[in-house]
Amino acid sequence: MTSPADSLTCPTCGAPAAARAEKGGRSPRPFCSRRCADIDLGRWFQESYAIPAVESADDTIVESLAAVKAHSEEDI
Ligand SMILES: [Zn+2]
Repeated sequence: MTSPADSLTCPTCGAPAAARAEKGGRSPRPFCSRRCADIDLGRWFQESYAIPAVESADDTIVESLAAVKAHSEEDI
């Protein structure tokens, strides 16, 4: 009774994906749960931060990164 479209597995944990949302509702598909969707989103953000495109207008991010770096150098 399962069609190929319904046999998705959660990319985060491999469990069967959540059911399709009702019309107008929200579903965490293709994840099994909201939690796994958040985990994947978190990974995605970390990867995009890892790209050294720090020519941003937001100086606070650059300052906090510099502070973290200074601290880790102190610890060594
Ligand atoms: Zn999952």
